[in-house]
Amino acid sequence: MFVNMKSMLCDAQNGGYAVGAFNIVNWLTARAVIDEAIELQSPVILQTSQSTVRQIGAKQLVDIVRPMAEDSAVPVALHLDHGNDLELAKECIDVGYTSVMIDMSKRPIDENIEICASITEYAHAYNVTVEGEIGAIVGVEDHIAVDAREASLANPQAAARFVNESGIDFLAPAIGTAHGLYKGTPKIEFELFSEIRRIVPVPMVIHGGTGLSDDTFRRLVSLGAAKINISTALKIAYCETIRRYLEETETGNPLKQDYAAYQAVREMAARHIRLFGGDGRVKV
Ligand code: 13P
Repeated sequence: MFVNMKSMLCDAQNGGYAVGAFNIVNWLTARAVIDEAIELQSPVILQTSQSTVRQIGAKQLVDIVRPMAEDSAVPVALHLDHGNDLELAKECIDVGYTSVMIDMSKRPIDENIEICASITEYAHAYNVTVEGEIGAIVGVEDHIAVDAREASLANPQAAARFVNESGIDFLAPAIGTAHGLYKGTPKIEFELFSEIRRIVPVPMVIHGGTGLSDDTFRRLVSLGAAKINISTALKIAYCETIRRYLEETETGNPLKQDYAAYQAVREMAARHIRLFGGDGRVKV
């Protein structure tokens, strides 16, 4: 089933689990993540960064993912992650992505609302769902000071206004997670997350999943996280496996190398899907 994220994430929110959203980079990683979701009877989200779209092409990515999704009994969504190039986001919508994120979190809130509202209107005409961000989810390389960290966190009232006035379908609030590998133990604002969850009606998204502890994942899911993003862990599983394979072989064998990488990506996806409670949710 090739679907948008609407009922997938509402079901997750109501069912007390989260759907894993994996940043795929090519055919192999898409195949691995979908095969694991089928195996575990779990809904799944394949998302792509703007760089992936620019390198491979939006239509090409739809052509890769849609047939796999349509052939599978579990719901599969194809989502643009962190779209801030509006032309590119519209192109994704036009060629068949089922969901997009519009990340205008660095702009003042009024602009964030205005831009998200206009893309949401455009997207909904195509039955495409929209994720927005409030506060600024940083990269671990950002090294921000304590004051800056406080300022980058989502404000609950602003979050509620953002959702109501923009019409977005899902909200990613900045609650202390970061993209990339954490250098120390991240300070996650669970209370803030709960407060936003209480006053915001739409399903909530967690960014920066790689490196969070199992306990943190479980706690966020129990507090109502409906989608959790995993990117760096997929890249590590893929690249490290290929690196190791090449170190161990003299001549190289592309099929064996790809199969090893495929298995590693599947294992990474399985671990997260189970941790988020997504397994067994689709009756096939
Ligand atoms: P990680 O790379 O930390 O897993 O973050 C993924 C993410 O949030 C993509 O938007």
